[in-house]
Amino acid sequence: MSIAENIKKIKNSIPPNVTLVAVSKTKPVEAILEAYNVGQRDFGENKVQEMVAKYEVLPKDINWHMIGHLQTNKVKYIAPFVYLIHGVDSIKLLKEINKRAAQNNRIIKCLLQVHIAKESTKFGFDLKEVEDLLNTNDIKAFKNVKIVGLMGMATFTENKEQIRNEFSNLSNLFNRLKPNYPEFEILSMGMSGDYEIAIEEGSNMVRIGSSIFGERNY
Ligand SMILES: *Cc1c(COP(=O)(O)O)cnc(C)c1O
Repeated sequence: MSIAENIKKIKNSIPPNVTLVAVSKTKPVEAILEAYNVGQRDFGENKVQEMVAKYEVLPKDINWHMIGHLQTNKVKYIAPFVYLIHGVDSIKLLKEINKRAAQNNRIIKCLLQVHIAKESTKFGFDLKEVEDLLNTNDIKAFKNVKIVGLMGMATFTENKEQIRNEFSNLSNLFNRLKPNYPEFEILSMGMSGDYEIAIEEGSNMVRIGSSIFGERNY
């Protein structure tokens, strides 16, 4: 199937309140344009340089999502245009995003990445840390970032019950925090292999790469 057909198929299978982020990392601008031409506007990248290069040549109404681990020294390159940063995993990073957003007269939307997987390698805050974090004065003082929700990745496993449990834990946290944080609106969870489960557990933003663009060759 073509990229355009894959996009249509996925869009038809997910509820209208769920935003599809097409993860275009490693894929050429031609592939992104094919998706763009059937109406796709949200694209995810995990490397700063690659995102900047694509931003420069592609239509300016694309929403660029930074989904990878972001180093503080690279925030300045994406601050002028990035739409949503999914992987905020430290106060230090948030502070830098706030600083660079201010320099660009912007308020940059961010998601706190929460560590829900069993694997120890994944970045993010612990489930228990998130609420305390949101209440720190540090975070409240950041006027140029807006924390609009949470992001998480499940363990890479065949065990569907484990995946469901991990998503459910994050969803419960999101729903518990939401009444106290009116800006909370996005729960980003689900990739090609597990987005159906993620949506069943309450995700309203899925990040899908290989099911749209095919396998990646690194
Ligand atoms: C690569 C990536 C995705 C997309 O993965 P697929 O399995 O190709 O859909 C989603 N989220 C993050 C954080 C990624 O790095």
